[in-house]
Amino acid sequence: MKSSEMFNPTLREVPSDAEIVSHQLLLRAGFIRKTSGGVYSYLPLAFRVLKKIMNIVREEMDRAGGQELLMPIIQPAELWQESGRWDVYGDEMFRLKDRHNRPFALGPTHEEIITTLVNQDVHSYRDLPLLLYQIQNKYRDEIRPRFGLMRGREFIMKDLYSFDIDEDGLGISYNKMYEAYNRIFQRLNLKYRVVEADSGAIGGNESHEFMVLADTGEAEIVYCDNCNYAANVEKAVCLADKSSEGESAALEPLEKVYTPGVRTVEDVMRELDVPVHNIAKTLIYWADGQYIGAVVRGDRELNEIKLKNLLGCNNLLIADESQVRQVLGVSVGSLGPVGAEFKIYADLEIAEMKNFVCGANEDSYHLINANLGRDFVPEMIVDLRNAVEGDRCPVCEGLVGTTRGIEVGHIFKLGTKYSQAMKATFLDSAGQERPFVMGCYGIGVSRTMAASVEQNSDEDGIIWPIPIAPYQVIIVPVNAKKSEQMEAACSLYEQLAEKGLEVILDDRDERAGVKFKDADLTGIPVRITIGPKALQDNKVEIKKRWEKEVFLVAIEEAVSQVEDILNIKE
Ligand code: ATP
Ligand code: MG
Repeated sequence: MKSSEMFNPTLREVPSDAEIVSHQLLLRAGFIRKTSGGVYSYLPLAFRVLKKIMNIVREEMDRAGGQELLMPIIQPAELWQESGRWDVYGDEMFRLKDRHNRPFALGPTHEEIITTLVNQDVHSYRDLPLLLYQIQNKYRDEIRPRFGLMRGREFIMKDLYSFDIDEDGLGISYNKMYEAYNRIFQRLNLKYRVVEADSGAIGGNESHEFMVLADTGEAEIVYCDNCNYAANVEKAVCLADKSSEGESAALEPLEKVYTPGVRTVEDVMRELDVPVHNIAKTLIYWADGQYIGAVVRGDRELNEIKLKNLLGCNNLLIADESQVRQVLGVSVGSLGPVGAEFKIYADLEIAEMKNFVCGANEDSYHLINANLGRDFVPEMIVDLRNAVEGDRCPVCEGLVGTTRGIEVGHIFKLGTKYSQAMKATFLDSAGQERPFVMGCYGIGVSRTMAASVEQNSDEDGIIWPIPIAPYQVIIVPVNAKKSEQMEAACSLYEQLAEKGLEVILDDRDERAGVKFKDADLTGIPVRITIGPKALQDNKVEIKKRWEKEVFLVAIEEAVSQVEDILNIKE
């Protein structure tokens, strides 16, 4: 392809609404253009990258036994009513009506369609397992579309659905996908972690998320370098910190002390001169119609997801100062578990603490030397806090670290959730009717492209990993008006193309500096520069995008050198 004929409009300035590197660079380098919030056109260079990602995904899905199909984007409301999701999906679903006023949705996901499809035509256990997938646009009216392709309202997803006879079968399908996903993200050269998306402690169906490590990721991940454990911060299993002092100390008598104006944990630390890990803080929640109290160590963050799962409630709202005053007649800062009029759920660490400070449920008073068991008995002692750097790993007890990640893939055991709701059944070997046991497995293809840029760029632009680069080589004659340079360039271009390589020839009548800048911005892995001096010695200059140095090679060796770099020589 000649640069002069390409449609890749570059921008000199970073658009002001682009906050993260991938968004900025994909716009600047002429890969994407915005049509509307969260809705983008993929220009030719981007589409080449996307096709390469899709091909890797496709190869691995096929290798794992998947069969590709393509389902409709327009989905009738009836199917969503059958599964019970029409009313619960909420505003994230794009809804529309046809000319007869019949309601439809633009597919945010395809469980309803595929379950119906398989139910219509699969009747026997002999036809199972089935792994069906598609690569297609999805539509979600995200509350905050942002970061370019990261959180779009129209985006490309690969979604595979597995249908099995039983849980064992599902386990096999799930493992196949787990392994296929690992191969995909390895082939894409991404640094990633697989995290448990639902903690085993809390229960629920098995689920894993594939997280590309990047500072701009929305998720915070806890990981252990000692073993393979990784989980989202809010789902990571926390062990109690047993290092807190006083572990072996004797229980001191409970004492009420006057603490006027003391409201926060910091106030308590200062006024009573106690370390933060010897303070218990109590938070009051309104949980489906009743008030409950949750107690965590003074420096810990209560994890509302864990609490919500524990209570099994639909609505969990923290009570503010005025609600607490109205219901309990004290200020928030004076709440405590001792003598509380509400059920108490205590974090594991509270049981490890001795002689701690907490509110006295009376304005301007705190209790010192409080102890769980002796002074109060909670409803439950359970993991309720957010994990932090330096916690003990729940698997190997090594120290965990935290990092941020972008969710690029998600695999999920659905079980019979949809097949039961939608009455999708088959006959087992005993002639019994049974619901299909299902799994679903998604990869955000367009998000993956952006995630790759988050991990692969420098101050000059994108550095595409070779397997997904839009083109592999760019040839830059320093002066396109010089016929000997252009002739050498064209000859190399032909030879490389002959080898099946994807090559750009920058034939534009621009200054060399401009052409180099554009080549760097676009992120093409290998650049061949043809300059007058080297050409006199029959040489050209080769530069790898990820290295600063250039090296000279004899012109007749250029092709094999490039092949070596791209590592595709037989
Ligand atoms: P998120 O928590 O980021 O909203 P999700 O849990 O809603 O993701 P899934 O329903 O599991 O996502 O979809 C599968 C994959 O599709 C995700 O892992 C992600 O890579 C991608 N994806 C989801 N929502 C978007 C979006 N709005 N824009 C781009 N990609 C998305
Ligand atoms: Mg979402």
